[in-house]
Amino acid sequence: MPPQNTKMINYYLSCLIDYALEKKLIAECDEVYIINQLIDLFELDGYVPEKVSCRPEIHEILEKLCDYACEKGMISEDTVTRRDLFDTRVMGIITPRPYDVIWQFDRCYANSPRVATDWFYDFCCDVNYIRKERIAKDKRWITNTEYGALDITVNLSKPEKDPKDIAAAAATLSKSKYPACLLCVENEGFSGNMRHPARQNLRLIPLELAGEKWMMQYSPYSYYPEHCIVLSKEHKPMVIDNGVFDRMFDFTERFPHYFVGSNADLPIVGGSILSHEHFQGGRYVFPMDRAEAEYEFTVPRFSGVTCSVLKWPMSVIRLQSSDRARITSLACRILEKWREYCDESDNIYAKDENGLHNTITPIAHLDGNIYRLDLVLRNNQTSADRPMGIHHPRPEYHHIKKENIGLIEVMGLAVLPARLEKEMARLKEMILQGKDLRSDALTISHAPWAEEILSRTSVDDGNIDSVINREIGHVFKNVLADCSVFSDLDSFKRFISYVSAPKTK
Ligand SMILES: [Zn+2]
Repeated sequence: MPPQNTKMINYYLSCLIDYALEKKLIAECDEVYIINQLIDLFELDGYVPEKVSCRPEIHEILEKLCDYACEKGMISEDTVTRRDLFDTRVMGIITPRPYDVIWQFDRCYANSPRVATDWFYDFCCDVNYIRKERIAKDKRWITNTEYGALDITVNLSKPEKDPKDIAAAAATLSKSKYPACLLCVENEGFSGNMRHPARQNLRLIPLELAGEKWMMQYSPYSYYPEHCIVLSKEHKPMVIDNGVFDRMFDFTERFPHYFVGSNADLPIVGGSILSHEHFQGGRYVFPMDRAEAEYEFTVPRFSGVTCSVLKWPMSVIRLQSSDRARITSLACRILEKWREYCDESDNIYAKDENGLHNTITPIAHLDGNIYRLDLVLRNNQTSADRPMGIHHPRPEYHHIKKENIGLIEVMGLAVLPARLEKEMARLKEMILQGKDLRSDALTISHAPWAEEILSRTSVDDGNIDSVINREIGHVFKNVLADCSVFSDLDSFKRFISYVSAPKTK
């Protein structure tokens, strides 16, 4: 290990330069220019290159550079948020500018869409915008159910906020609305602050969808492989309207190896960001993609579109056709009909004094020449005994999941909160020691669930992990079923008849 300070900072800057050259983020002719910017950032008098023999991983190099910055007071307080702000600034210096990135993407795209996305995804990892070592911390498993295997993840990649950071963020409550949200194009290159992440290493690819200006980027959290975000260039609210299907199919035609889907446009059943119109996409086969048809039907005047109700815990209509115009126009009809649909027996009311309640979570694929749309019907009504939502996880499951069930989960991939990691570890420990689960703050909310499991399953050191994982998976399945708008196939068929009925007026 090189000695402290001057030699140390020279060594890790040499590592950074070596890394940037190897990953082709900079060229040899950029070297002096980049070093001078690093000298400025680290407030150095100069720089003497050190020999790099066994180069550490990029996150380790950045950790050492942050250690130096903490020691020298460039990072005022040693917390995760302040380190993230600083190390992103460092990476921003070696990240090529948007023009060069778009140029390279287009060059790869001329080869094939897949070559372009492969290159861009690797690039986003190389510039540490996607922090691979953090994503590797996520816990993942599958649980077999009558709907097939479901994917379960416990999201551990977002570092827990330091209370000092939370206090500092509250204290710097600025009036600035720039960037207006986390999805705005103004994030590209933004230096961040205590309340907004640094994005000097974020790069976006421009797209045209249905004649509008959109951009594509990857998600820094990668909930599944090549998890991308497609966002409107304009900061405007999420809307599920007839145009959404055309925008999604334009995307799948440009990137046939990616699916694309949208969160619903109403609170409770929508995603976490309703203020900025966006899609999510990527290269992954979700559990719902493997779901079979439970019931097939046709809609008069839409021959050529295969329609089915999926065997899936939520209420999903799958449309497939080689005729893009026809499948799109049927999807528009289903959306219009669903927006106005009421069914008292299933507690579905299209609107009341609080506004509209029915919406759709749509997902598009292009398989060869077959266009496919999965339309997941949603309703966001609440009631006195279900204030968080009638078609939302019921309270008895909130100990595992109480957040909105958005696009990713609809498709069968659970994104469970990080708190479960600690809570489940303690729960297992207490079960194995035969302790009262109601005596500990970490396990009390899980006690009724765990006691029910123990009443029917014998658990020991050897099987406890798999039993708990399996049971969490079953809770997720039940949570999805709670979000279903129809109680059974018969009530689903009533809606299908409503869609098929000739227009009155
Ligand atoms: Zn925005």
